[in-house]
This record gives sequence, C-alpha cells and structure tokens, in this order.
Amino acid sequence: MPYLVEIAPGIHQIYIEAVREGAVSSVFLVEGERAALVETGPAILAPHVLEAVDKWRCGRRGIAYIIPTHLHMDHGGGVGALARELPQALVAAHYRFAHHVVDPVRLIAGTVQVWGENYAKEWGPILPVPPERVLPVKDGERLDLGGRELEVVFTPGHAPHHVSVWEPGTRTVFCGETLGSYLKSIRVVVPTVAVPFFDLEQALSSMDRVIALDPELLVFSQGGPCHRVKEAGRQAREVILATAEQVREAMEQGLGEHDIVAGLKRFHEAHLTPFLLSAGDGFNLEEELWLDYYEQMATGLMAFFRRQDLRQD
Ligand SMILES: [Zn+2]
Repeated sequence: MPYLVEIAPGIHQIYIEAVREGAVSSVFLVEGERAALVETGPAILAPHVLEAVDKWRCGRRGIAYIIPTHLHMDHGGGVGALARELPQALVAAHYRFAHHVVDPVRLIAGTVQVWGENYAKEWGPILPVPPERVLPVKDGERLDLGGRELEVVFTPGHAPHHVSVWEPGTRTVFCGETLGSYLKSIRVVVPTVAVPFFDLEQALSSMDRVIALDPELLVFSQGGPCHRVKEAGRQAREVILATAEQVREAMEQGLGEHDIVAGLKRFHEAHLTPFLLSAGDGFNLEEELWLDYYEQMATGLMAFFRRQDLRQD
C-alpha cells in the first residue's frame, strides 16, 4: 500500500513500498485548497500514485496540476496515465516542449533509445495527454492552489526543458535533477547526466539559480528532502565539474568510451570513499545508482564536449 509522508507543512512525499526510494523519481503532493502533483514517476506506478491520492482528503478531483520537472520516462512518463484518472488536472510543461506531451512520439523514440524497444513492459506506456489538458508554462509562471502558490523556475541542463518548482510559503524547491541525485543514506549528491542533451554550462547556471532562491528545503526527485542546502549545492557543483574534467582529459588523450567509463567509475568510487565509510553495512553503491549510470554520464558529457568543439570550430 502506498502512503504519504509530510516532508514540510502541506507537502507530502508518496512512498510506494514496492519501489526503493531513488530508483525512479518520487512523486510529491503539494496541498492548498487544491493540490498539485510534482513528478509522476513512470506510468507503471500510476495505480499506486492514484491509490495514495485517494487517501488524501480531496481525492482525485482535488488535483489541479500535474507538474513533471521534465519528461524523461522515470520522471514524467506517467503524465498520460495520470491525466486520464485525474479529471480536473492540467499538465504543466515548459512552453517550448509542451507539444511533446500532446504527441509523445519523440519522447517514445528517446525512451526506446535509452531503455530499449520493450521499455513499456518494465515502465509502462507513455500515453498522450489531450491538448486541452496541457498548460504550457513560462519561466516565473505561478500556479494557484488556493492559499498556496507554486512558481515555475526554468532550470535547463540535465534536459533543455527541465523546470524546478518553488514554493515560497515553506521556502521549498523541487529541484528535479538540477543538482543531480541525493544518496540520502550517505548524504551525498551525485551528478545525473542524461543523454543526449545534457548541457554542462546550463546545468551549472541552473544549480546556482536554485541555490540563489535561498531555499530552506531542497527536494530531490531521487532522494527526497535535504535540509543541508548550501552543502548540497557545493557538492553538486564540485562533483559535476571534476567529473566533466575527467571526461574532457580522457577525450584529449584519445581514450575510447569503454576506458572513459571505467575511469569515471574509479574516480567516483575514490571520491565517495570517505562517505561510504560512514554508511551502514547494508549500503551498496551499485544498487543506489542505476544501470548504465556511468555509461550515461560518460556519453552525455562526451556529446556535450563534441557539440562545444563544433561550435568553436
Ligand atoms: Zn532525467
């Protein structure tokens, strides 16, 4: 049975027992007179999310907005499945990319590229949302929940259409993957580089933008709430810069992808050693990170540097 945990006044994280926290994006419910869901998780989890919404005081008809931070399958893959069951909800999405929610053909192609032809078996289908249910949003746009407002903050980098959600009442920011992923048990932020559109420069500016909001609470989509805002911001910056430098140097030395991936794995494990020592016996780094974690980081950064080189030629 899924259950709701209040992580700040009126802000709940939906826990789904079958799913390890951090394995895919968590889903959050923010309540005013009406409520918003931030993130959806993959479509396969939609029945669990709905079950949690049914336990909330206003139920399905009280959900006014569904706000995925971005449309990668593990964060926003459930928009279509949830929109069908939440009759009042509008799906908020970056205005330049909102048409992909209506016609997800490109999203599906990108998902197949990363997760394979049979992605839907494991993660559920990416379903279209009727155009009248999609709300294209601009940077700074405010969504009224009645007694509470949410502000959309554009934070490209991880993906060009990535947004964060700022809740000024509790000074909470849902940062999606802007800063990476939070390994809660060892209190470390690790970068999450996505293929093919990761942009390092944008990612760094977006991290700064999130920290400049001066939040009291950062909510990572993978890893949940984190109160150590400044430290998390610093870690996120340092690690992505050091990782990018590794990849850049390896490319300049002419190393192939296989060696770059192996180098990144060694580098990250060395960087994480002091934190790993503090972890309990049950902690397993390989399990905390997802399949192809280092491959995605290497190929995403290599693609970024190649694009940058092309621009400079
Ligand atoms: Zn993502």
